[in-house]
This record gives sequence, C-alpha cells and structure tokens, in this order.
Amino acid sequence: MDRYDVIVIGAGPVGGYLSHRLNEYGHSVLLIEEHAEIGRPFQCAGLVNPAAMEKVRMEKSILSQIWGANIHSPKGVSVSIGDPSRNRTNSVCRKIFDEGVVSQSIASGTDLLLSSTALSAEVIDDMVEVLIHTPNGNQTVQGKILCGADGAHSWVRRHFRMGRPKEMMIGFQIEVTGYHGDHGRLDMYTGRNIAPGFFSWAIPSGDTTRIGTWTTPELMNGRSSEEYLNALISNNQINERFSDCREIGRYCGPVPSGIVSKVSVPRVVLFGDAAGICKPTTGGGIGPGFDQVDLIVPKISNSISSNSFGQIQSNLVNSLMADMKRRQRRKKALRDAFLTEMSDDELEDVFSVWSRPEVIELINDVGEIENPIPLGIKMLREIPEFRRLASRAAKAILWS
Ligand SMILES: Cc1cc2nc3c(=O)[nH]c(=O)nc-3n(C[C@H](O)[C@H](O)[C@H](O)COP(=O)(O)OP(=O)(O)OC[C@H]3O[C@@H](n4cnc5c(N)ncnc54)[C@H](O)[C@@H]3O)c2cc1C
Repeated sequence: MDRYDVIVIGAGPVGGYLSHRLNEYGHSVLLIEEHAEIGRPFQCAGLVNPAAMEKVRMEKSILSQIWGANIHSPKGVSVSIGDPSRNRTNSVCRKIFDEGVVSQSIASGTDLLLSSTALSAEVIDDMVEVLIHTPNGNQTVQGKILCGADGAHSWVRRHFRMGRPKEMMIGFQIEVTGYHGDHGRLDMYTGRNIAPGFFSWAIPSGDTTRIGTWTTPELMNGRSSEEYLNALISNNQINERFSDCREIGRYCGPVPSGIVSKVSVPRVVLFGDAAGICKPTTGGGIGPGFDQVDLIVPKISNSISSNSFGQIQSNLVNSLMADMKRRQRRKKALRDAFLTEMSDDELEDVFSVWSRPEVIELINDVGEIENPIPLGIKMLREIPEFRRLASRAAKAILWS
C-alpha cells in the first residue's frame, strides 16, 4: 500500500498548482486525474490574469494579450475602456497552460495517476484511506490528508457532504474564425435576450475568437444556452461582427460560485471550483483558486508534517476562508446591483452614465478585472444616478 502526505484528486490548474506548492513545503503528493490527458475537455474562456500568470510563469500558453473591452448595452450603446499600454489579462490555450502547471508539480516530486478515479475514501484514525480505480486495477493508498481539486461537481465534496456552492452558472461557448473584433479588446454584450442577468463575450484567442454566454438556470425561462448564443449572433444591431464567423468548436460547462460553508472537515480540504471559488462577476476561477492555495498551504503545512489534522485544523482552514467569502459576497452584491437585478431599460440608463468621458476615465483609473469592489463603491458613492440604481441589499453589504 502506498503512503503519501497528501492525496489530491483532480489535475486541473488548481490541483496542479496545489501539488506543486505542497512539494515546495516538503510534502509528498499523489495527484489523481480521471482523464487520460491533462487539459481536456476544454470548458473555459481561457482568461488568466497577470497575477495568476506570475505564479506559474506559463507565458508560453498566451494566445492574446487583452488590454481593453467594448461593453455593449442591450440596445447597442457601446462603451470602450482600456489602455493599450496596460495589459489587463491574457487569453491562453488551456491545454498548454494546464499541462505546464501539472508538469511543474511532477518536476517537484508529485506522482500523477491518469485515467484514475477514487471509488471510496474513509478517514481512519490518523489517515485517509482512498480506494482508487486505475487502468491496472484497484489500488488502496493512504494520505495524511485528502484534497478535492476535482472541479465543479467535486466527488470529494459530495462524498464528505461538504455542502454546495451557492450559485451554479452555466457557460456555453463556441470558438470561431472570422469574428470582426478589435485587436486586444474583448467584447461584452448585455441584455435579457442574450444572457439574462449576466453577459455574453467575444474574446480574442490568437487566430480564433471565443464567443460565449453564461447565466443561471433560474433566469433562463426554459430556454437553452444555445438559444441565447444564437440570439446574440443573429442580433441585427451587431450581427455584422459575426457575419464571417465559422465555428470550429463548442464547449459547455458549469461555473460554481459562492464558497461552500465548510471548505474543510477533519483530514479533507476542498480547493478551486470544488470549493465554489469562481468570481461571481466574471466566472474566473483560476486566479482565485491559486490565491486559495497560497492562502491555505503555508498555514497547514506544519499540521501535515506532524500529522495532526483534526477538527481544530479544519476550523482554522474554514476561518482562513472568511475574508475570501466576504469579498466574494461583495462582488456578487455589485454584480447584482449593476447587472443581474436590472431590467434592460435600467441597463440603458447605466450605459448612458458609463459612456460619459469622466466616468470612462474613472473606470480606466480605478477599474480592475480582479477587484471591481473599489470601482463599484466609488461609482455608487460618487455618481448620483448609480445611487438611485443600486439595490438596497447591495448598499447594505457595500457600506458595511
Ligand atoms: C464557459 C466557461 C468559461 C470560463 N472562463 C474562465 C476564464 O476565462 N478564466 C478563468 O479563470 N476561469 C474560467 N472558467 C472557470 C474555470 O474553467 C475553472 O474555474 C477552472 O478550470 C477551475 O480549475 P480547477 O482545477 O478547480 O477545476 P477543473 O479545471 O474543473 O479541474 C478539475 C479536474 O479534476 C478532474 N476530476 C473531476 N472529478 C474527478 C474524479 N472523481 N477523479 C479524478 N479526477 C477528477 C477533472 O477531470 C479535471 O481535470 C470558465 C468556466 C466555463 C464553464
């Protein structure tokens, strides 16, 4: 029977980064992935911000650098923001990105099992015993702790009954050639008809463009994601941008947001999508997943070394998440105030304010894809029209 300090289930970007950081702290790691290769299937718009890129130095995966955005109102009013001298985010090839991150963990000592899944897991005294189905038959391994980095539908989370992410959005995307967009700028489209309560996007990705839409099932009125995407593409105010598009792929996937109530129980910790870490404002999960790893690993390393990971250590991990949870709730409040709870007519009012030069300047100065809270608060405080528009619930959270 093999023994490791840590067993990590899920070799996505977060599982790969987690394994590497655990190795750096001197811990042995077994990483288990159900697919035969890393980075497939692809279910992502592929945006990785500079701070997350800095942590893994996977610049070779960058397809396009993105410095700005055109944001479109339901009736077609456009607001252009950004500055070409300041890169805001990167569009990457997730296959190269994920493979690179997982390779870094292998290089630092992680053992990787592909085409393998956990069949059962049980905490027994001072260890977790996991039965794994591998291509060579079933195998039992022991770890001091078990980490679930196994994505939105996490088996670890369900097995240990650790709750559910508060929101589960559905993202649907096609990859096309021939989209008429601006170099270095992504497009964001709003409107109940194309992305109720959320937005659609067109993201430059090297020679292709990723066009997608996301929303929650509760807001979809019985329509499918595909119908919403078709409504975007056939919208006659903007359809000249799509007139030469040729589809080369389509992808669908969940976006879990709203961190689960217990990220840890004794000897078990959830990371990344498994924990519901995605940003409610953009759906991005890679950056926050890496941040979560950096937050937790240094704090639990001693407990792993001394093999003491009971209720006290779980409570510590859960309390470490409090700040992240609070920031995620505030971002959701902002999103609800400016987007999700607005009718299309109210959105038009917002765009009429956003398109004023002084507001564009404010957005360019204070706006951060990573952290929209300072900009949101400034706008709600300083722009009288927005005070009227912000919902009371959002105000209550933002002013607190
Ligand atoms: C349409 C769409 C667009 C998105 N766009 C962006 C974006 O632009 N930027 C961004 O940062 N995020 C984006 N996201 C979210 C992003 O894809 C995730 O947040 C990110 O992949 C999370 O990484 P992870 O490692 O936690 O989980 P995952 O990437 O889901 O990796 C989990 C891994 O675990 C494996 N696994 C699952 N169950 C088991 C099991 N039982 N046993 C073994 N292995 C298992 C899976 O095969 C997978 O390899 C998007 C999501 C969608 C759906």
